[in-house]
Amino acid sequence: MIDIEKHPCFSIDAKGKYARVHLPVAPKCNIQCNYCKRDYDCVNESRPGVTSKVLSPEQALTYLVKLKEKMPHLSVVGIAGPGDPFANPVETMTTLRLIRKEFPEMILCLSSNGLNVAPYVDELAELKVSHVTITINAFDPEVTKDVYKWVRLEKRGFVGAEGAKVLLEKQLEAIKLLKMYDITVKINTIVIPGINDHLVGDIAKTAKELGADLMNTIPLYPVEGTPFENLTEPSAAMMKVIRADIAKHIKPMTHCARCRADAVGLLGKDDPEAAKLLNDIANM
Ligand code: SF4
Ligand code: SF4
Repeated sequence: MIDIEKHPCFSIDAKGKYARVHLPVAPKCNIQCNYCKRDYDCVNESRPGVTSKVLSPEQALTYLVKLKEKMPHLSVVGIAGPGDPFANPVETMTTLRLIRKEFPEMILCLSSNGLNVAPYVDELAELKVSHVTITINAFDPEVTKDVYKWVRLEKRGFVGAEGAKVLLEKQLEAIKLLKMYDITVKINTIVIPGINDHLVGDIAKTAKELGADLMNTIPLYPVEGTPFENLTEPSAAMMKVIRADIAKHIKPMTHCARCRADAVGLLGKDDPEAAKLLNDIANM
């Protein structure tokens, strides 16, 4: 039986006891966020700065089998990039199927921008994926048009408010479908000064109305070479105020570790030996 209480990102009691691993099987992305430099991991669920190795689904399974031997307390497998899981749906879904077959009790978790989640929700539910994170930076395309450089869906490219609208429609559809299957939905919001910092409370309110279960606010990390490189990173004090504000509407995520797309180990205590194993398998 899958015990979702063993998810260290969602249960404070599980945090110091159970480990998680992100499998870096999804290199491409279907949108371009203005805070992301594409040589790096997806900023939506990770901190920028180090490129990840990319594994094939079969390599990912080999890695997981070896990891589980070393780390019996590993309870969660997530896919969070380094691009977007559903910009690489074949790799993502093949990996999930392989894992579910080998590990019937593993908690499966995904983090996505939400653009291309909807077509896969039936199968995600069948595979008993229990946790999905969608990054939403505002519910108004007039606001988010400045956050995304382009959005690509079904071989068509969109820019400006049109791109933001397409993305938002698909994000809303994804949340609705995920909740139809009672999958836990977390909303990630990157707090971007001057763009959405004054709207985060409203985002929390709408997210709750849509059925989302909890929300994680992540301060913008201004990365050199991106359109947002000159913005100021929100201070810890500002984030504290924002988190208190969102807590009026939705359960806030209080112990996010800003994990990389290849994070492994207890939250906040990544395992260097496991990282070596990942490299060895990627180079096989
Ligand atoms: Fe980068 Fe993630 Fe945005 Fe894609 S969704 S552009 S990988 S931050
Ligand atoms: Fe899931 Fe995010 Fe935790 Fe990774 S960091 S296991 S994607 S909630």
